[in-house]
Amino acid sequence: MRIARIAHPDGMAFAALEGDGDGAEAAEIAEHPFGEPRLTGRRWPLADVRLLAPILPPKIIGIGKNYADHAKEMGGDAPPDPVIFLKPSTAVIGPGVPIKLPPDSSRVDYEGELAVVIGMPCRDVPAARAKDVLLGYTIGNDVTARDQQKSDGQWARAKGHDTFCPLGPWIDTAVTPDDLALRTELDGEVKQDARTSLLLHGIPRLVEWVSHVMTLLPGDVILTGTPAGVGPMSPGQSVSVSIEGLGTLTNPVTTR
Ligand code: MG
Repeated sequence: MRIARIAHPDGMAFAALEGDGDGAEAAEIAEHPFGEPRLTGRRWPLADVRLLAPILPPKIIGIGKNYADHAKEMGGDAPPDPVIFLKPSTAVIGPGVPIKLPPDSSRVDYEGELAVVIGMPCRDVPAARAKDVLLGYTIGNDVTARDQQKSDGQWARAKGHDTFCPLGPWIDTAVTPDDLALRTELDGEVKQDARTSLLLHGIPRLVEWVSHVMTLLPGDVILTGTPAGVGPMSPGQSVSVSIEGLGTLTNPVTTR
């Protein structure tokens, strides 16, 4: 199932996206998409709704240096265990919404990433059971003020500005995430081109590691890390992250 959050003619809702092309529709989900989602029967042509960020996460856990070639371009070795950090929920924006470059940074980078969405409250999840606690997968852009990341020595400011966590365009509950092509384009020029099979710590290990530290809640997002090729964005540009089977997340870039 493809789960989206939509703005429809009468308000907002979660919806199941059905069909492709001109016949594509959004079928309203009652209440929330966790557990056994129930459809209300209301539906709209996809062209008549706007896709919002597919989830408003209680928290967003980022994973640092989880591709060897990105660890190398950042000037270090990949750590033996996952390195985690938090992004605030207020950083989330949906497809098509502008990433706003803050005036106090001179370098803001895109980071295309596979995003995992948690489906139930859980803690101390063994890697072998990680799949059972997931709602599905979407695309994330872990936007980072690179100069602030370096100068601050920790990452809350660099990763925490409003608009620094584009998510979308929807959550796929059925895709197998183990070996998907991931590509980031800036104004149509390919900047990152990798496969999720290159993740140093795979999704089961990440869920185990993070849930050993903190309770995970329905809707929490784990950003699994970015491959090599990160680089800066300028006002007026457009950044697109595509993952095989998950679609494309595109956001324009503006100043605040
Ligand atoms: Mg990242």
